[in-house]
Amino acid sequence: MTELARIPLAGVIGHPIAHSRSPALHGYWLRRYGIKGHYIPMDVTPADLAHVLGTLPKLGFVGVNITIPHKEAILGIADIITDRAALIGAANTLIFRKDGRIHADNTDGAGFIANLRQRAPFWNPAAGPAAVLGAGGAARAVVAALIEVGVPEVHIANRTRPRAEALRSDFGAKIIVHEWVQAANMLDGAATVVNTTSLGMTGKPDFRVPLDALNPRAVVTDLVYAPLMTQFLIEAAAMGCTVVDGLGMLLHQAAPGFERWFGIRPEVDDATRHAVLGA
Ligand code: NAP
Repeated sequence: MTELARIPLAGVIGHPIAHSRSPALHGYWLRRYGIKGHYIPMDVTPADLAHVLGTLPKLGFVGVNITIPHKEAILGIADIITDRAALIGAANTLIFRKDGRIHADNTDGAGFIANLRQRAPFWNPAAGPAAVLGAGGAARAVVAALIEVGVPEVHIANRTRPRAEALRSDFGAKIIVHEWVQAANMLDGAATVVNTTSLGMTGKPDFRVPLDALNPRAVVTDLVYAPLMTQFLIEAAAMGCTVVDGLGMLLHQAAPGFERWFGIRPEVDDATRHAVLGA
């Protein structure tokens, strides 16, 4: 088969993978733009990851998304790692280059910022400190992105304090670490508030941090998008805050990969949201 005749293949690798919304999202964009290509969910164990990645390009894959639990381990397999993926310590988007090398990038932070800018257009990162709940993998991308766009300080509380301390070591003096039990207090004066924990997600424990100290002018966002309106966002909205759900981050982080693999920058709009929610 010639290169031109090849139907481009992409997909998402995780373990497990059945819950992923990425196949519905990329499948929708492929249909919308009339592209002859396929996007496939692949359940791959950590032990098989390197072998699978060596084989996929030979089958016509142009790249893949990487999700839990492989986002950190992939940095030990990829040949070229972007600065932001190295800083975050994880990658979510791979491009299989024609020279055989694997290029790894992390688009979570850019997706996070693009979602805020789209859904809260007046949001000004420099308006005041940010408060970030959680210090897991997603938090690292969020914190890197917040600092890059000019947030003056980032207050972080995490149940396991050393993970928050690690963020301070990696990202510097703009990070201020708080005890998890003090998380409610760090909301006082925050202009941007982000839940990066899995609390409030369907099937996970409830989000129980009291929100009394929230400033009604704060922009409040949750990375959890199942349910779309989490209890955290419902309570923040009731206090007058502008709230932004986490679905847009998922959509925006996916757009650069789609563009590199299939040649069209896809639109992230209401039709895209509905397509993913209805899938
Ligand atoms: P992760 O690395 O496993 O981190 C999980 C975070 O939640 C950690 O901060 C963890 O604290 C905290 N946590 C879990 N259970 C807790 C509990 N019972 N009490 C207090 N804190 C608890 O996961 P991740 O990759 O960062 O993902 C975090 C969430 O973001 C998930 O819900 C994921 O679906 C979502 N996410 C959304 C997007 C998007 O595009 N919208 C992208 C990435 C992730 P410890 O450190 O103490 O365990």
